[in-house]
Amino acid sequence: MSLDSVVSEVKAKQEVWEKEISQMRGKKFATICVHGAYTKHEAIANNQGAIIEPVYTSTSQAFLDADCLEAALAYKIPAWAYSRIANPTIGYLELMLSMLESYGAPRRASACCTSSGMAAIRAAAEPFISEEKPGRKNIVSMAQVYGGTFQLFSERFAKERGVEVRWVENPADLSEWASKVDADTRFVYGEIPSNPGIMLFDIEEVAKLAHAQGAPLITDSTLSTPALCRPLEHGSDIVVHSLTKSMTWSGRAVAGALVSRENIMSGAISEEAKRDFAGWVKLWPLRDAGACISPDNASRVLDCVRVLPGIMDLLSRNAMKVATFLEGHPGVERVHYPGLPSHPQHAIAKKYMRLVDTGENRFGHLLSFEVKGGHASARRVLDRLKFIFNATDLGRIKSVAVIPTISTHQQQGEEGRKKARIPASLVRLCVGAEDADDIIGELKEALE
Ligand SMILES: *Cc1c(COP(=O)(O)O)cnc(C)c1O
Repeated sequence: MSLDSVVSEVKAKQEVWEKEISQMRGKKFATICVHGAYTKHEAIANNQGAIIEPVYTSTSQAFLDADCLEAALAYKIPAWAYSRIANPTIGYLELMLSMLESYGAPRRASACCTSSGMAAIRAAAEPFISEEKPGRKNIVSMAQVYGGTFQLFSERFAKERGVEVRWVENPADLSEWASKVDADTRFVYGEIPSNPGIMLFDIEEVAKLAHAQGAPLITDSTLSTPALCRPLEHGSDIVVHSLTKSMTWSGRAVAGALVSRENIMSGAISEEAKRDFAGWVKLWPLRDAGACISPDNASRVLDCVRVLPGIMDLLSRNAMKVATFLEGHPGVERVHYPGLPSHPQHAIAKKYMRLVDTGENRFGHLLSFEVKGGHASARRVLDRLKFIFNATDLGRIKSVAVIPTISTHQQQGEEGRKKARIPASLVRLCVGAEDADDIIGELKEALE
């Protein structure tokens, strides 16, 4: 088979598929969650009619002849070649995520899946601080970020790479962001909302500040999922996810993803990288870093994503009931939940956290509360919980609780925790899909 005929045959198939994908993009969010890019033609022409995305556990792809091999490895025809670089099952998930994160956004997006959320955050951030563009560099991030991200920025980037990390302590204060972002800022970073402090930031306004200095905004949207918030629509350049959490509410996979819109803003990376950042990360730096997702995990994520809007709606409604109960309980000092009017950033949450297509406010399922009587009381409450598991986990169909200062945020140290406003009496609770009355009943007993 000549190289030309290989290329044209594959391109013809690709065109049919792309047409189907673009029709799917015109559907409602819930429909895309069910089908994504796994279209009729894709099922019948390439997958023996399998109605669910097959899990390709094969390490690599065989080619008909030398021409096909050469064309594939030169990235001239879509091929997957080797599972660290690409894989059909992973490809279906990446297309699904790109469709969901760009839903309602003016520009297309692309996605790249990774072995974990931390791998996605590192893959998204690292290109901007590379030595390819020497000179002074700083990054500006809200201080309340996930513990692993805090360590990545302060240990790996600041101590090992000499990057100045400027922490924004009050992410609701735009003047604090403005005073820290400057011409040497390589990227701006925030979580919506943050784990476990449950703080938010105004994506649109912070994106404007970043863009005015030529820097991209990276948003960790793990706790919102695209069913509640799609940061690309609001001006963020890159979205990162720990797919391990709410996106895979079954609790059966560790995985991550970065999703970027086309033509992102940056003075620190090449034109090619800016055009399709996630695609570029996938083909080059991630290929070399080797932090690929497994096809098995990709299929588990896909299975959970199919019902994402319904699940996030249910979990959010449960969390709202639990938060309201806790706020009225005499044994509780304070409740942090963006859905409560008492939350200092309730207005920002109302602006950004909305159930897709209905537009109704839904605030996710993570909340935290400070127990009266300090750390010892918090321990006692945790120890008395029964079906609510005590685990350093969140985003599950099951309710899970933890004390951040002795677990997830232990390594951050006293000062780091103070910056992130995490007191020792804080219990983080991620509300599951159990009956809300049963969850409340159990908390009531534990707080007695
Ligand atoms: C858990 C988490 C991460 C890290 O994800 P892993 O999949 O555990 O590597 C990043 N950001 C947030 C907000 C998280 O909750």
